[in-house]
Amino acid sequence: MADTTNPLRLIEVTRVTRISPRMTRVTFGGPALADLALTGPDQQVKLYFPRPGQTVPLLPTMGPDDDVMRWYGAFQALPEEERPWSRSYTLRAHDPLRATVDIDFVLHGGTGPGAGPATSWARSAAPGAVLGMFGPSAYFATPVPVGTTDWTLLVGDETALPAIGTLIEALPVGARALAWIEVADAAEEQRLRTAGDVTVRWLHRGTSPAGDGGPLLAAVRGARFPEGSALAWLGGEASTVRALRRHLVGERGLDRRSVHFSGYWRLALTQDHPPTEADLAEARERLADARPEGTEGTEGD
Ligand SMILES: Cc1cc2nc3c(=O)[nH]c(=O)nc-3n(C[C@H](O)[C@H](O)[C@H](O)COP(=O)(O)OP(=O)(O)OC[C@H]3O[C@@H](n4cnc5c(N)ncnc54)[C@H](O)[C@@H]3O)c2cc1C
Repeated sequence: MADTTNPLRLIEVTRVTRISPRMTRVTFGGPALADLALTGPDQQVKLYFPRPGQTVPLLPTMGPDDDVMRWYGAFQALPEEERPWSRSYTLRAHDPLRATVDIDFVLHGGTGPGAGPATSWARSAAPGAVLGMFGPSAYFATPVPVGTTDWTLLVGDETALPAIGTLIEALPVGARALAWIEVADAAEEQRLRTAGDVTVRWLHRGTSPAGDGGPLLAAVRGARFPEGSALAWLGGEASTVRALRRHLVGERGLDRRSVHFSGYWRLALTQDHPPTEADLAEARERLADARPEGTEGTEGD
């Protein structure tokens, strides 16, 4: 979580770098980032994208009491055609001296309307463009204590690659980790820096669609895990993440509290669509995992 009370900022593009055919890195700066202080890896934010006709996303101001729920109510009350699109992203890097952050955008869905507003924005992003950013905030994520177990398992697709990159970078010297990362093809692989003892296996999706486990589930199912205590981190397409978690907890016997998991996107659904039954079940499981040991199972989960 960040060291700030008001987690809402306007941020401005200072540089755009295409780091692979399907991934663009956008560097943001601006005075609002001067006080940003991050306290760990995997820092998540909500970005707000301007609607047509807006150069700066129209956002309510945060009240002096920093009441986030009141702010969110005012945001939801904006007319839909004016309300900025909001999408979740990960801070890939933070440079406190320059007061900048990098965010890596996967360019999915071609150039048509199927791409979604965040991807369409990223395809044509240029210096001077302004987005809203909410967070990092304790509302979004619990800290991931990498390096505190005998080994760490990291599994995800390219949307999770920015988070996995920060987690791998945060590993202490010699800390053991295995990572499986699914990307479209070899051109999407990245060099990841670490002080840890990390083995990364890149999986190429090719032309087959993501979802329902796919190559990630097959690879993790077939893997021999190291001995000792494990911490697992899973991110990517929601049904794949659920299948992976079921496998790790149900078939491999990992303590469910040591499995950090998050559905990052849903097949054929945008982030504007309401939660499905499966999403709600996932949220209930997350809440159950957050409860102290011995108090679970009391609310019909
Ligand atoms: C905590 C968190 C952190 C995230 N961090 C990142 C990050 O750092 N970088 C990043 O690129 N993404 C990240 N994501 C995923 C990103 O928020 C989604 O991919 C989001 O849907 C993109 O918005 P959009 O406007 O492009 O598409 P939307 O309007 O949300 O969706 C439009 C269509 O595209 C499909 N779609 C969405 N994402 C993908 C995809 N990756 N591949 C194929 N089809 C897709 C949807 O099923 C839908 O049919 C993160 C998500 C979460 C929850």
